[in-house]
Amino acid sequence: DSELKNQDLQKITELMDGFKASKALFTASELCVFDLLHSRPRLDAAQVAQEIKASVKGTECLLEACVSLGLLKSKERPCQKPMYENTDLAVRFLRSDAPFSLHGYIQHCNNTIWPLFSHLESAVREGTNQHEKAFGKISKDVFQDTYYNSQEVKLRFMNAMHSIAKVTGKAVATAFDLSRYKTACDLGGCTGAMAYEFTKAHPGLSVTVFDLPAVVEMSEHFHPLQKDNRVSFVAGDFFKDELPKADLYILARILHDWPDEKVHILLRKIADACTPGCAVLIAETMLAGQTPYSALQSLNMLAQTEGQERTESKYANMLSKHGFGNTHVVHTKNFLDAFIAIKM
Ligand code: SAM
Repeated sequence: DSELKNQDLQKITELMDGFKASKALFTASELCVFDLLHSRPRLDAAQVAQEIKASVKGTECLLEACVSLGLLKSKERPCQKPMYENTDLAVRFLRSDAPFSLHGYIQHCNNTIWPLFSHLESAVREGTNQHEKAFGKISKDVFQDTYYNSQEVKLRFMNAMHSIAKVTGKAVATAFDLSRYKTACDLGGCTGAMAYEFTKAHPGLSVTVFDLPAVVEMSEHFHPLQKDNRVSFVAGDFFKDELPKADLYILARILHDWPDEKVHILLRKIADACTPGCAVLIAETMLAGQTPYSALQSLNMLAQTEGQERTESKYANMLSKHGFGNTHVVHTKNFLDAFIAIKM
């Protein structure tokens, strides 16, 4: 059919423009536009430009782009320049101190994922992450050799993990009835954000967060104001060290970082630490979902780590090799799906 369908053209245009929209969001977030308009709503472009130390021309373009994307509202005034304020979306997710702020993750997208994605062709050709091309760093282990080599990059990464875990944690923690488990170990639990959601949702559960020493030493910067003595931290390497004993092992965004061989090493160690009835709870976005989210996230893992996203049946199959069965999946419609398997 040679007829040009506007709907098709629009779909392709949206895809071609996706990166411009992402970068406009990242730039406004990086320049703290949403924080500024939260503390001082209704500024015009010149006032915003002065505060964020940017050109008036560039700021006008950026603010209008944010209006077109539904992140800002502009208030027209007769014979005067428009004034800008945050939309509800920006208030809830984009200002840096909002309870469900994604500011930390957006900074990681802008400073790490964006440069990695500019080498996506190489990532696809080579089947490997692109830290060397993007940042000039050869890394055998992306966490220990790259993210945790600089305090600034480490904190940015931890902030990014923290922000997503806060948004998705409750949906994951409440996906299953966990009342029979008394002790959990959140392997690679980073800042503890997920662990706190588990103890909030399950009054009888204590959670040990297990992560690398470089992370655990910074974790107190992320503790909530109301500390919970059912959350504790242990430093170690889950590939090398003994795992803390627990009835339930949580793996949130861990397995997608690693190739199958390393996933099997970790699952073997967990299986050895488990008695029958213990469980593994995996929080990942499952491939073959309804939206492109998980497939795009898999490209992200390709460009950033040694891993990839996997389907539910792949996880079930991998777990069955270590004696786990009776699997259940809950599609939370939040960032992460929840998957549980019981040690037989
Ligand atoms: N589970 C957290 C979440 O969902 O927000 C963080 C996920 S992050 C993608 C991966 C985590 O695994 C990081 O906190 C990292 O420090 C941790 N990690 C990586 N390698 C590790 C290792 N060898 N031993 C322990 N933790 C490790």
